[in-house]
Amino acid sequence: MKRGSLFIISAPSGAGKTSLVGKLVESQPEIEVSVSHTTRPMRNGEENGVHYHFVSKDEFEDEIKEANFLEYAEVFGNYYGTSHKVVEQKLAEGVDVILEIDWQGAAQVRKLVPEAISIFIVPPSINELRSRLTNRGQDADDVIARRLSEAQTEMSHYLEFDYLVVNDDFDTALSQLQAIFTASRLTIEKQQTAQGALMADLLA
Ligand code: GDP
Ligand code: ADP
Ligand code: 5GP
Repeated sequence: MKRGSLFIISAPSGAGKTSLVGKLVESQPEIEVSVSHTTRPMRNGEENGVHYHFVSKDEFEDEIKEANFLEYAEVFGNYYGTSHKVVEQKLAEGVDVILEIDWQGAAQVRKLVPEAISIFIVPPSINELRSRLTNRGQDADDVIARRLSEAQTEMSHYLEFDYLVVNDDFDTALSQLQAIFTASRLTIEKQQTAQGALMADLLA
């Protein structure tokens, strides 16, 4: 069976990556989003096991010791990490997997999986990023301030990615994201397997 592809999506907090990825997956149900582990507190409306696996710092550190993470990083003072086993299982089943991770995690995954396709999402301006973080209404003022102050560090890594999407108009950004996923399935490498029978027939 064909192996799934691995996608990495990074963005400064509040740029809209979770909203965009949510809509992308609705329109392309063969893609799944990896559920990360985190030590940050759960937000209103979040569900354990759906948005994140919410764990204590001790539990997270045990998972590090057991080498259970494909990558992990400290982001805004909390640990975030991706389970190695779950991602590997999905890819082996032929499912395309999206990792919504920060630039540090992206760099670790790129080393382990050089063929992973990585996409960076930016807001149209810093003012717009500030108002999205504020309007989301999920984080305390000091948490928002920390996320804004670290946005430029995150964005300074954009050249390490394969694609850059500006999330100004949501629907435009969504169709650009959809185009990247569609094109990635049409490469000769992918089509050689997917259209093998047709090509053999056409060339017979
Ligand atoms: P949001 O992106 O603003 O909704 O904020 P979150 O609290 O959900 O995520 C905080 C940061 O952690 C983001 O920059 C994510 O990219 C990063 N992050 C989330 N999950 C992971 C993970 O599994 N591994 C790594 N390395 N980073 C993660
Ligand atoms: P991230 O996951 O990158 O932190 P979210 O997906 O949570 O970002 O989006 C942050 C906030 O901005 C949310 O309230 C979301 O509804 C809003 N948002 C996302 N994209 C746009 C857009 N193109 N225009 C206006 N608001 C947006
Ligand atoms: P939030 O706390 O707002 O849900 O996420 C903040 C940031 O954490 C996100 O921008 C996301 O990029 C990063 N993040 C979420 N999960 C992971 C993960 O598993 N690994 C890494 N490295 N970063 C993550």
